[in-house]
Amino acid sequence: MDMQSSFSATSTTKGNQPRKFFLEDGIGFVELLEWFGSDLTVANAARVSMHKESAFECVSQSDGSINHVLSERDKQLITYLARNRHVTPFFHPQLRFRIKMPIFVVREWYRHTIGFARNEVSRRYVTEAPQCFVPSVVRQRDKNIKQGSKDAAVDNNEIVVEQMRAFTEQACALYNQLLQQGVCPEQARMILPQSMYTEFIETASLAGYARLAILRLDGASQREIRTYASFVAQCTEQIFPISWKALMDTGTHLLM
Ligand SMILES: Cc1cc2nc3c(=O)[nH]c(=O)nc-3n(C[C@H](O)[C@H](O)[C@H](O)COP(=O)(O)OP(=O)(O)OC[C@H]3O[C@@H](n4cnc5c(N)ncnc54)[C@H](O)[C@@H]3O)c2cc1C
Repeated sequence: MDMQSSFSATSTTKGNQPRKFFLEDGIGFVELLEWFGSDLTVANAARVSMHKESAFECVSQSDGSINHVLSERDKQLITYLARNRHVTPFFHPQLRFRIKMPIFVVREWYRHTIGFARNEVSRRYVTEAPQCFVPSVVRQRDKNIKQGSKDAAVDNNEIVVEQMRAFTEQACALYNQLLQQGVCPEQARMILPQSMYTEFIETASLAGYARLAILRLDGASQREIRTYASFVAQCTEQIFPISWKALMDTGTHLLM
């Protein structure tokens, strides 16, 4: 069995912008809350060094409406900036997401620190029923230890999935029992599994998300974090198409 189906997604849209991507389990999600700036913001952050400013070009449409588009000069400038690692203009646009993610993925996601601000639900205060991620496909171990896993599922996939589900349900049940016995939430949470979902709000720059995406869309990253990175990348690409393409084309060269 292939892993594709286990951590895939559905999305809801507002206008032509996808705003909320759900994992297949309908629990985990990435929701775009708001953003600041456009490709023009990047171009103008660079043009200020020559004390210049650009504007969008107005293009008349056949239905009489006007489209505001980035000039060819500004597109070329953005490509030049990314290719030559002039990254500071890409620090100005910002995006804010609400993300619901299992803790084992959060452990990796939070390693991306520069240009990111985060605030998270605290299980010291909140005692609502924990939710856990249970994969529908459990992957085989790869002989190459750095690869982490193969795409193929273990032979007894359904049994293993049920074992994982049963164990997480048991842990959540014990958590609730501990609370009923008067245990404080900050200690009761100690027995909850790494697959437990947590929720946080994250604000970061376009450059920050580009850096994260370059690292976490790569096949060397764990599939579960790749899924979350792809949600963020899809949102970001729609809002900053020229800058995002320029940054992604630059790839790992940008990280040096
Ligand atoms: C496939 C993969 C496997 C990984 N495996 C492991 C692992 O086994 N163990 C583990 O601990 N981590 C692991 N990581 C995490 C990795 O080491 C990085 O912490 C993570 O990728 C974030 O990198 P970043 O460059 O976006 O970091 P950020 O913290 O966002 O930093 C961005 C950049 O700022 C600069 N910077 C940040 N802090 C400093 C500093 N103190 N001094 C100088 N410059 C700084 C660097 O240029 C850095 O690249 C892994 C990451 C990937 C993608």
